[in-house]
Amino acid sequence: MMSLNTKLVSKNAYFISKNRGRVTARVRVPGGNLETKYFPVIQEIAERYGNGTVHLSARQALTIPGIPAEKIPEVRRLMASYIQGVEVAAGVNITDVESGFPTPLPPNIIACIGSRDCALGNVDTAELAQKLERTFYPGGLMLKMGVAGCANDCVKVHMQDVGIIGMVEPLYDPARCLSCESCVKNCPSSALRMENYKVRRDGLSCLGCGECVLKCPTGAWSRGSPYYRVVIGGRTGRKHPRSARTFLEWINEEAVFRLIKNIFAYLEKYRNKNLPKEHLGYVIDRTGYGVFRQEVLQGINLGPKAKVARYINFGGYAYGKGVAYD
Ligand code: SF4
Ligand code: SF4
Ligand code: SF4
Repeated sequence: MMSLNTKLVSKNAYFISKNRGRVTARVRVPGGNLETKYFPVIQEIAERYGNGTVHLSARQALTIPGIPAEKIPEVRRLMASYIQGVEVAAGVNITDVESGFPTPLPPNIIACIGSRDCALGNVDTAELAQKLERTFYPGGLMLKMGVAGCANDCVKVHMQDVGIIGMVEPLYDPARCLSCESCVKNCPSSALRMENYKVRRDGLSCLGCGECVLKCPTGAWSRGSPYYRVVIGGRTGRKHPRSARTFLEWINEEAVFRLIKNIFAYLEKYRNKNLPKEHLGYVIDRTGYGVFRQEVLQGINLGPKAKVARYINFGGYAYGKGVAYD
């Protein structure tokens, strides 16, 4: 039986399997959005080298199990066209596509289908995810990121280190308003009220969800500028799972990218370098939210509408603690 150099194997996003001598290939799908022209190469790798199946990971990557380790060089040759098309042609800086994905750690950037196909979508999530991929992949640090098109968060960015949620500023045209109150009744944060047969919006309570736009029968509400809510510190894992909390809201796209850049710098500075990877939330627990906030907001113009959380209580729980059993 051939012994596997696990470091060497995982270097290009192959994983050691419980089945000896076999590995699983992990294939990135930025934003969970893949043109069907790439299906044949995935099918060929799975059928010729794997066990004929493809597992869809919870984080929207494709995983191809059952590949004999000695076949990795052949799989790499096939995978090169996928990496060239999905990553390099989209602007990701990968110089050697023949070697496979250049790093095992930075996880796939997940996204819901967003405004490309969902009526509730406030932003083009796949486009933003692909832009994040271009800007921050390969990199070397683990930061699980997700993009949701609206506050419904179908893609569960609240379980990511950083979740980006599309918001919209609703614009009101009183001339088109019939005073039917549909928007008022459907606003999830009670931000709308009627006053002299016209609608008033409380900007401080508004979530930017866009529900009023959808519920208005006359088009009196329309979508204004897109903004983003950023939630941080979500994670699963065997130690202490918890949901992310809102850090920022009503920030623009440029501020999002500057923020992510600063978060990577913060991680580089404060992460536990004895561990191969550490969730952002654990690092924030160690430094405190105040240090995190100060470091990652440096040099960013958040804009006049932005709101920053004064403090964050993450909650969550540790497995086996604080649970009463019958
Ligand atoms: S999160 Fe919003 S935009 Fe995305 S799929 Fe769900 S409802 Fe649609
Ligand atoms: S965007 Fe959402 S929260 Fe804001 S006013 Fe419209 S329905 Fe209410
Ligand atoms: S749903 Fe439209 S028409 Fe009805 S009250 Fe609201 S803005 Fe006016």
